Amino acid sequence: MYELLNYILGDLMTRLINPFDMAVTQLTSVAKLIDLDPNVLEILKKPKREIIVHLPVKMDDGSIKVFTGYRVQHNDARGPYKGGIRYHPNVTLDEVRALAMWMTWKTAVMNLPYGGAKGGITCNPLEMSKGELERLTRRYTYAIREFIHPYIDIPAPDVYTNEQIMAWIMDTYSALAGRNEPGVVTAKPIELQGSEGRTEATGFGVMVTAREAIKKLGLNNSEITVAVQGYGNVSYWAAYYAHKWGYKLVAASDSKGGVYNPDGINPVDLLKYKRETGSVINYPKARNISNEELLELSVTVLVPGAIEEVITEKNADNIRAKIISEGANGPTTPKADKILFEKGILVIPDILANAGGVTTSYLEWVQNLMRYYWSKEEVLSKLEKRMVDAFEGVYRISREKNIDMRSAAYIIAVSRVAKAIELRGIWP
Ligand code: NAD
Repeated sequence: MYELLNYILGDLMTRLINPFDMAVTQLTSVAKLIDLDPNVLEILKKPKREIIVHLPVKMDDGSIKVFTGYRVQHNDARGPYKGGIRYHPNVTLDEVRALAMWMTWKTAVMNLPYGGAKGGITCNPLEMSKGELERLTRRYTYAIREFIHPYIDIPAPDVYTNEQIMAWIMDTYSALAGRNEPGVVTAKPIELQGSEGRTEATGFGVMVTAREAIKKLGLNNSEITVAVQGYGNVSYWAAYYAHKWGYKLVAASDSKGGVYNPDGINPVDLLKYKRETGSVINYPKARNISNEELLELSVTVLVPGAIEEVITEKNADNIRAKIISEGANGPTTPKADKILFEKGILVIPDILANAGGVTTSYLEWVQNLMRYYWSKEEVLSKLEKRMVDAFEGVYRISREKNIDMRSAAYIIAVSRVAKAIELRGIWP
């Protein structure tokens, strides 16, 4: 009975908070702000193509399990579709649709010559063997092979997918094509024509945008303090570059809790400790704090770099950071956004702050197409220029219109895509 009730409630919740409805509502409100042509709005409300595939996979115990996979291609007016592939038990068509639309805005705000797409397979990768994951990945690639291509749609990793999975996609696609096609996916291993700098790219970008905000606010460089929530790929590299540029990392956390030292923490030493013990907590050179306390510290820069919806209407009023650079996707709720804006806190939105990953994916793809490779320094310097340019554009619009940076980013993104659609026209 209890399980049944839980199931019904869960299903109801999914239907109540439909991510795609949320994405469309967001688009509709931006459309009003920019007086978007209603015909273009109608086009943008729907993905151009939705692919659903059912994938029979031989499991290790000899049985066959049929998984459902998706690839949703939202818009390609500005260039080939681009977006990650997610392996998760909660993957639904509406979630993939929403994520595909968000990718269209992310590539547009960064001015990358791409559109937006997303893929997903409803599965639990944590319960699957490496062999099962490989067979699932190859079957999925086979099933969507006609719809991906270096000039059509270029997948990348997302939740619970990684460079090994990208290597299998690249290999399967290349085998079917009869030639080597590294440009069909990005975030591949370096040995398979991946790009230098990809690992640190997102955290680096998060800190580059924070640094630009620090300059705009005219803050003194020697007094900058930084707190990062999470200590995974994004937050660690954000902390690493903060330290490298002379800012003081004062707090970091993970799912078990956080640590705080107002005199500063060495990010490399903290990572070493986390690797040895499995968590940042009880780090001897700092004191323990909770994740909630970390978010409310009086710091210059706060990086929510772990999970979504951690800054809500409940704690937004207590946030004391001057700048928030959103490493994670969706860490701030719309109600919290409003409160933070009224408090004068500069929020660098996720589609800008954490776009270092997709931007380096773009740089990887360019290298794959020309079969010529750049050093890490070259990649990071090209990435830095793109992050700074995008930040400048968003900041300018936010000041001109006296709106928050998230609305400004959406205005730029939707306007760019709309312009491309208008210029291309509708054919046939
Ligand atoms: P990760 O798995 O490497 O690290 C996640 C970190 O968050 C870990 O330290 C984990 O302990 C911590 N964490 C988990 N639950 C937590 C909780 N309840 N409270 C506090 N900390 C918690 O993941 P990542 O690649 O660093 O990604 C983090 C976020 O950034 C995600 O939202 C992801 O979608 C987003 N993102 C990542 C990239 C990228 O290139 N890796 C790009 C864009 C956006």
